[in-house]
Amino acid sequence: MSTRNTPEVDPRRDLRYGLEEALDGEVPQELAERMSAHTADCPECADEVERLRRLKELVRRSCCDTPAPSELRDRIALQCRTVTVTSTDADGTTVRVTRTSWSS
Ligand SMILES: [Zn+2]
Repeated sequence: MSTRNTPEVDPRRDLRYGLEEALDGEVPQELAERMSAHTADCPECADEVERLRRLKELVRRSCCDTPAPSELRDRIALQCRTVTVTSTDADGTTVRVTRTSWSS
């Protein structure tokens, strides 16, 4: 049972629970504004916000910040269906045969 969105909850508790969502922009604008107003005069929560913000920044930087472009994903998918066979003929000629299977 979630009480996160119940207005009657102790405001500190309420804010604490919503901090992470607020940083992700996952809370209603009104609540986000209430939070930033609160952190302005609550060093405890301001610290928590700062900590979370840094953590998220770190995570964002360590992951690829741009999602793989669709062409790249297509290329990867294509490679999965492409088999390259390298064989050497009796006369020493290297033959590479690339077969692409379009069946999924
Ligand atoms: Zn606070």
